[in-house]
Amino acid sequence: AAARRTRTFDGHGRTRDGHDVPLLANIGHPGGAASAAAAGAEGVGLFRTEFCFLDRADAPGVEEQVAQYRTVLSAFPGKKVVVRTLDAGADKPLPFLTAPGEPNPALGVRGLRTATRDPQVLDDQLAAIARATAAESAEVWVMAPMVSTVAEAADFVARCAAHGLTTAGVMVEVPSAALTAGPILARAAFASVGTNDLTQYTMAADRLLGELAPLSTAWQPAVLELVAATCRGGARHDRPVGVCGEAAADPALAVVLVGLGVTSLSMTARALPDVAAVLASVTHAECVELGELALGSDSAEDARAAVRARLGVLE
Ligand code: PEP
Ligand code: MG
Repeated sequence: AAARRTRTFDGHGRTRDGHDVPLLANIGHPGGAASAAAAGAEGVGLFRTEFCFLDRADAPGVEEQVAQYRTVLSAFPGKKVVVRTLDAGADKPLPFLTAPGEPNPALGVRGLRTATRDPQVLDDQLAAIARATAAESAEVWVMAPMVSTVAEAADFVARCAAHGLTTAGVMVEVPSAALTAGPILARAAFASVGTNDLTQYTMAADRLLGELAPLSTAWQPAVLELVAATCRGGARHDRPVGVCGEAAADPALAVVLVGLGVTSLSMTARALPDVAAVLASVTHAECVELGELALGSDSAEDARAAVRARLGVLE
């Protein structure tokens, strides 16, 4: 255990046989960007911009947003940074975007859906991201949360293009998006699977309810099937498919995801060394075998136990 705690990450995620799997960081508040870079993150796979504005009554101005976004971009010169547009609603209400009193906020007007009611907030945010991008050398990818349909993906890509933001993608965190990943990725440049919400919506289990924890795990074979479907959609159009949910931070699950076709993993920076170490211990072909082992299991518990046994990780 002591050895695990002192492990570090050399800044290059790869399997034992040299198949590159970039290991990226999830960033909430911009203040976390510098330490994520110091931890060796190869870029940012998820910048949760709503964390900048959780306590705000009014929508932030463009100038203020530019400053916050530049803080993150400047910590990753020349590196990829995936900036997610505001994911307001459900567990992260924003007073200036979230309508009170919805009976089921997780199924309500959250994420990209808020842009139908209030397009100016998204437009201002894209303007701010474009200005921050022009001022820094990071390679900026823009991503929409809670996309459910091909039309939403196409509309988001068009809105980004209007601001000169050419690498626009979507989160896949709703089963409908996973099942239509082919046509979605014919329009969008990339996808990133949000396993936290994808699990919640696949299993119909509130992610905040501890009592449902046995259901609320991305080890569920049904969730893994949807990840595999997303990867097939990406492969059809030669688009990268990352994972930025908590599943990417579980080393045994991370190699399963790679085996299902996931091309990058984004996680809390402190998980990087352990994920990198397990990834470096297996070949890509072994990842594929582990993915098949998990998909073929009857339960989350069986999948996890089978994969960990094969990896030689003790429970
Ligand atoms: C997810 O749903 O997996 C995700 C990464 O987004 P968030 O946790 O911010 O909802
Ligand atoms: Mg989510």
